[in-house]
Amino acid sequence: MNLRDFKKIIYGERELSELMVSARKETLKHFGRTIQLYAPLYISNECVNSCVYCGFNRCSGIKRSTLTIEQIIGEAKHLLSEGFQHLLLLTGEDQVKVPVGYIREAAVELKKMFTSLSIEIYPLTEEGYKTLVDAGVDGLTIYQETYHRPTYQAVHPDGPKRDYGWRFASPARGARAGIRKVGLGFLLGLYDWRFEAVQLAEHLQSLLKNYWQTQFQVSFPRINPAETAYQVKHPVGDDDFLRLVCALRLLFPEIGFALSTRERAAFRDRIFQFGITQMSAGSKTSPGGYALAQKSGKQFEIADARTPREVSRALRRSGYEPVWKDWERELG
Ligand code: SF4
Repeated sequence: MNLRDFKKIIYGERELSELMVSARKETLKHFGRTIQLYAPLYISNECVNSCVYCGFNRCSGIKRSTLTIEQIIGEAKHLLSEGFQHLLLLTGEDQVKVPVGYIREAAVELKKMFTSLSIEIYPLTEEGYKTLVDAGVDGLTIYQETYHRPTYQAVHPDGPKRDYGWRFASPARGARAGIRKVGLGFLLGLYDWRFEAVQLAEHLQSLLKNYWQTQFQVSFPRINPAETAYQVKHPVGDDDFLRLVCALRLLFPEIGFALSTRERAAFRDRIFQFGITQMSAGSKTSPGGYALAQKSGKQFEIADARTPREVSRALRRSGYEPVWKDWERELG
């Protein structure tokens, strides 16, 4: 499939039922009946930005917290006991209170415990990413949020995140720094998802062409109107969401797709076979939300509150194998 066919699908040319059959077939061909499970670990909710859709924005009045290294290890031990081997470490954006050195220190400790360690933090320079690669980080997730520039400026009224170009170029800087796996995405609900899908596809195609040694993946974070104070301007319905996943699967048959607990359990159980390759489970979206049971502010409410074991059982019931570990750094 080429970009022209992709656009036709996005704009509704083929029946959804027909797309689902093709997308499922492609997914089975390249990934089999497996879903990798991962867990997010928020280590800080400090943020100097005011993204209007986010619970961490600097005006939100939430309780702020940054975990100590000992607390991070405590949280990580809890996730390890649940069976996770893939960890996603997250922060807001505050380079003074949450400097790269602190993230590096956390990464060094976490890398001793987990097979794969990814980050979803503020954009770094290439050197900054290299520092974290040296500490053991092998994955980077950075969403553009929206590829529509006027919307981007409107939803990021101030703070360093207003710089569209700096964020847009982050996946490329991460790839140049040697990060093994780089994840992209946009926040579904900020602008017309069809426009966003085409821009994302072009962004990804250009990255694949220039950084062929890097694995890329796509995530599908959707703002849940019922769980945020933000008034969603462009709600994305379940069928459109499914069309997006299927269309991207047909355009990028070998790219991994991640689905978070922002989505309802029933929807996750329905959609995963049409392109998803990774799912988070049992997620907490505040620092210290697992073993510490801290009451600091959350980034967003999760919709699938099942435990990792429950998600794992649901996958098995559908004939899929939950994968807790699918990669290990070669020992030098
Ligand atoms: S989306 Fe990220 S940068 Fe924006 S307010 Fe939330 S944590 Fe901060």
